[in-house]
Amino acid sequence: MTHRGAIVSALVVLALLVGGRWALGRDPVETILVEPGPGMPVATASPSAPPGTPTPTPPGPTATPTAKAPKPPTATGPIETRRLTGSKKVALTFDDGPHPTWTPKVLDLLRRNGVKATFCLVGTEVHQYPALVQRIVREGHTLCNHTWHHELDLGTKPEAEIRANLEATNREIRRAVPGAKIKFFRHPGGMWTAAAVKVSRELGMTALGWDVDPLDWKKPSSEAIRTRVINQARPGSIVLLHDGGGDRAATLAACPSIMGELKRKYGIALLN
Ligand SMILES: [Zn+2]
Repeated sequence: MTHRGAIVSALVVLALLVGGRWALGRDPVETILVEPGPGMPVATASPSAPPGTPTPTPPGPTATPTAKAPKPPTATGPIETRRLTGSKKVALTFDDGPHPTWTPKVLDLLRRNGVKATFCLVGTEVHQYPALVQRIVREGHTLCNHTWHHELDLGTKPEAEIRANLEATNREIRRAVPGAKIKFFRHPGGMWTAAAVKVSRELGMTALGWDVDPLDWKKPSSEAIRTRVINQARPGSIVLLHDGGGDRAATLAACPSIMGELKRKYGIALLN
């Protein structure tokens, strides 16, 4: 390996180590090495965790890919995740919220279009905006656990740590909405591991993947988002969009047309 190659490798390892930090809106696996764009929240901007909930921990030895590790967990997922609805109808999912600006606008749009969706919620945001979780549930949408702090590397942690994280997130959601059903778990960045899938199943949640990803977190134009969704969609697609993690004006602007076209071609169903 050249000197330069070694530096690049070291940077990659470093990026993976900090991958557990807040990295909103960066769901695709390949995005974890990309620097956050302007306006993206950083870890230091996040609220402190309430008592009894796990806080993001500095990377420990278990996260370090070394020669000793017999089988480094694969982070190239998806592993046994649900990527299709099971019928012709497609489903919409919104990640990284609730967000005080964008989630209400997305909810307004869904209501106007008579569409129900699934919201993949981040625990720290639920803690800040419980009323938005209440509105999501009140308006008939489905809930999905998206970890406490959007930890991209959660799946590489010991099972007990994964479980504590998911339970804390569910607890926070149910603090906002007592008895809320949380049917799904979506790993941040799609960085699924067998352990993450196993723990989520043990907690009664289905590992929720996706089939259509317009990369809206990269802030393309609303027309690009619309075109990508329509071009990628097929019967039964699960569409990944973002209501949280940054300025979602383009996603919002694309949504009426996306909803109209998907409804016409396939119908839009709520995941169950
Ligand atoms: Zn996410």
